[in-house]
Amino acid sequence: MNKNKKRTLITGSTSGIGLALARGFARAGHDLVLHGLEPDGAALARGLSQEYGVHVTHSDADLSRRSGCEQLAKATQDALGGLDVLINNAGIQHVAPVEAFPADRWDAILAVNLSAAFFLSQAFWEGMRARSFGRILMLASVHGLVASEFKAAYVAAKHGVLGLTKVLALEGAPHGITCNALCPGYVRTPLVEKQIADQAQAHGIPAEDVVTQVLLKKHAIKRFVEPDALTALALLLASEDGALITGTSIPVDGGWTAQ
Ligand code: NAD
Repeated sequence: MNKNKKRTLITGSTSGIGLALARGFARAGHDLVLHGLEPDGAALARGLSQEYGVHVTHSDADLSRRSGCEQLAKATQDALGGLDVLINNAGIQHVAPVEAFPADRWDAILAVNLSAAFFLSQAFWEGMRARSFGRILMLASVHGLVASEFKAAYVAAKHGVLGLTKVLALEGAPHGITCNALCPGYVRTPLVEKQIADQAQAHGIPAEDVVTQVLLKKHAIKRFVEPDALTALALLLASEDGALITGTSIPVDGGWTAQ
């Protein structure tokens, strides 16, 4: 492997945290597969490529289906010829009490947030083993460590992601493959904007009170997490210096889990 030219796939990277990660990894010289369902994905990929002089392609494979995971793995292999860094970031949310939680949302959240992370890790495992180098990062959540009400599927999936992280770390250890999970508190992205109305309904409060009374209530530091903080941490974990950091779940949560 050329140490200075790593090949990276970031799922769900045409929006929010994933897009910030993509920008940071492109700036650091990584060739990328940008992935996500937003319609401007191809244009975003061209823009990153031009701005940072790295190879960037785009895929809009649907990760709610196993065939979509296979499609993304093949597109990545074709575009980059292998993978050094996999960031399982794509995720969806639904906010509703247990008695009203729709079965199709449960299935979709488990599929995108948890199963896709396994199928993609599996798809690149042999190649990483063969090269004795691999970095797998999970964009988990503080909800992988603690629960909040009205998020049954999301909390279950993110706790599952942390279990998967530990297994991949153990199995990858003899082969130079590390796996770690980033556990952010609230980051102001489209995923969070979309849940404000649902949170208002579930908690029975006006939408304008959701930020202070629900979202930032559990942060000891009453600010949203900045995506750039996650990018800096991800770059460290993905680097040669990250070789001995594995199996961890790292909160970036303004002190939420200190309580
Ligand atoms: P976002 O909604 O801005 O981006 C999500 C990305 O996932 C998008 O690119 C979207 O196209 C992609 N995606 C969704 N469904 C998909 C599917 N079926 N197939 C393929 N791609 C799909 O969300 P975000 O806030 O940037 O979240 C990114 C990750 O960070 C998620 O895993 C989320 O759970 C996690 N996270 C977010 C926060 C937060 O406060 N925003 C906090 C903790 C963890």
